[in-house]
Amino acid sequence: MAHGSVQSEWYGEGLRFECTLCGACCTGPPGVVLVSDEEGALIAARLGISPEDFFERYTHPTSDGASINELLNAHGYDCVFLDRESDPGKAACSLYEDRPVQCRTFPFWPEHIRSPRDWNRLMSHCEGIGRGDVIPVDEIRISARRHSERYGK
Ligand code: SF4
Ligand code: SF4
Repeated sequence: MAHGSVQSEWYGEGLRFECTLCGACCTGPPGVVLVSDEEGALIAARLGISPEDFFERYTHPTSDGASINELLNAHGYDCVFLDRESDPGKAACSLYEDRPVQCRTFPFWPEHIRSPRDWNRLMSHCEGIGRGDVIPVDEIRISARRHSERYGK
């Protein structure tokens, strides 16, 4: 008798990932980092400004919603909240605890974990892939689910 068995993912043993704070995922070509109203309110509170001020000063509209502004420098289009000053040689998110879901769930986006090939392909963009401790499958599933619930992919 069938028991509605769950199909196991190719990454059932977990995946190795450790962020090195290289900053590559927060810079590069112009990109989109979406911020919902709720996320914006949390970030605004962190910055000690109103949500309206936050969206006005730090975001711009896109067809998918408000996106965090970027600043072009020698590294590329840095997210305005990328901090390269506090710890020289490192690039850290200055919003870390309040960063948007898009950032929070990286690199475990559905498109990146669809197959070993997709995961390995990400290595050329993120040097944390394949490093450090194994992230358990449950954590990976939670991130991927959060990402797809929010962005529908
Ligand atoms: S590209 Fe990867 S290793 Fe570099 S900051 Fe982003 S998550 Fe961390
Ligand atoms: S909000 Fe933080 S994690 Fe997200 S792109 Fe900006 S600096 Fe990177």
